[in-house]
Amino acid sequence: MNCIFCKIIAREIPSEIILETDTILVIKDIRPKAPIHYLILPKKHTPDIQSLSKDDLSIATDIFSVAQQLSHQLPGSQAFRLVSNNGAEIGQIVFHIHIHFIAGQRMSDL
Ligand code: 5GP
Ligand code: ZN
Repeated sequence: MNCIFCKIIAREIPSEIILETDTILVIKDIRPKAPIHYLILPKKHTPDIQSLSKDDLSIATDIFSVAQQLSHQLPGSQAFRLVSNNGAEIGQIVFHIHIHFIAGQRMSDL
């Protein structure tokens, strides 16, 4: 499949890996927009949240669980933001579900 995030998950393309579970890989965003900017990638390819089947909704729990783990590893404050673009019109560029994990910058400072 010609999906850049599937290739990263398969280690066909290098990335800076932060954390891995059975269902999720967390990498550094290649173009960070905040002091800490990670991407939470479910390993199973699904283009967007709209396409997620009922059977795969457990991925939402996995994402929150990983976000919680990441927050515990933050230096200083454990404050963070999750963002997910779903649809080209809202700015989604890579059509494999991913959640931006952002810390160290307020939304008003973007
Ligand atoms: P979105 O689809 O949510 O608008 O943005 C996709 C995000 O993936 C962007 O923040 C972009 O910097 C990041 N990205 C795109 N290609 C790569 C890549 O090859 N490696 C990594 N680590 N991040 C990428
Ligand atoms: Zn994919």
